[in-house]
Amino acid sequence: MSIEVKNVFKYYGEQAALNDVSFNINSGEIIGFLGPNGAGKSTMMKIITCFIPKSSGEVKVCGIDVEDDPIAVKRKVGYLPEHNPLYLDMYVKEYLSFVAGIYKIKNKKERVQEMISLVGLDKEQNKKIGALSKGYRQRVGLAQAIIHDPEVLILDEPTSGLDPNQLVDIRQLIIDIGKTKTVMLSTHIMQEVEAICDRVIIIKEGKIVADNTTEGIQHREQEKQTIFVEFDQVVSKNQLKQINGVTTVQNIEGNKWLFETTGDIRADIGKYAQQNNLLTLTMRLEEKSMEEVFKELTRN
Ligand code: ADP
Ligand code: MG
Repeated sequence: MSIEVKNVFKYYGEQAALNDVSFNINSGEIIGFLGPNGAGKSTMMKIITCFIPKSSGEVKVCGIDVEDDPIAVKRKVGYLPEHNPLYLDMYVKEYLSFVAGIYKIKNKKERVQEMISLVGLDKEQNKKIGALSKGYRQRVGLAQAIIHDPEVLILDEPTSGLDPNQLVDIRQLIIDIGKTKTVMLSTHIMQEVEAICDRVIIIKEGKIVADNTTEGIQHREQEKQTIFVEFDQVVSKNQLKQINGVTTVQNIEGNKWLFETTGDIRADIGKYAQQNNLLTLTMRLEEKSMEEVFKELTRN
């Protein structure tokens, strides 16, 4: 197991930013840590990376307790903080050498060069970090996070503030790096989870509200379906309600209806139409996006 979090609480004064949080992350997984602003994502990540202490509970990284041996944990973990605090006056190469020095990396020069080409900073390596675009600064942030070849990568909103092209590049880079590491990345962008992650853990107000595979979470919510139907003639709402699996029926206009159902009951609706000499001009299962699933799980 790469990350074990058990019954963790974190209080800022009176406020519980984390309220009995538990989850496990297996080695090699890419996990999306999803939640609205203020949910507790950064707090959880800072605890895993030994930047702040928890109030209670247990956290282990690669089997090492964060309280017993924070230095050993930091050796295993690469961390890209939310507001990537880079030294803007340093040159890219100089900064990465400085970080390599902190980790006492042996072949410093080679390793820095290796990182520079891995994250695609060859052309920018002699520039000051302050002169780089946000996308390139994130590459520097990723390079510093992996320079000591950690087993686990913790990325706090790694794509926030990037333009669409940068976003695609950084996501691809995370996918590539993630092939050989355990990755936990926080985001509030649903498509990101779909694009990158094997599993998603959703947090809301300091509590875990879902923990499932990316497909599983969409599927689970899809037991509640929405089906749009247009008949060729007038039908009574009471009759439509009788169809097996219908939770609610709503008339949109004319002969257009919206069914809330348990499961995909299009065949039952079709059969009903046939038995009552109705034609279905349109029948459509409204697919739920990850975005809608997220909204359903995190709204009050
Ligand atoms: P997220 O990263 O999901 O947006 P955070 O972990 O940053 O959420 O914050 C969780 C909650 O804890 C928020 O209500 C936030 O205001 C509060 N919080 C975070 N850091 C501090 C702090 N240093 N002092 C007091 N409250 C904090
Ligand atoms: Mg945050």
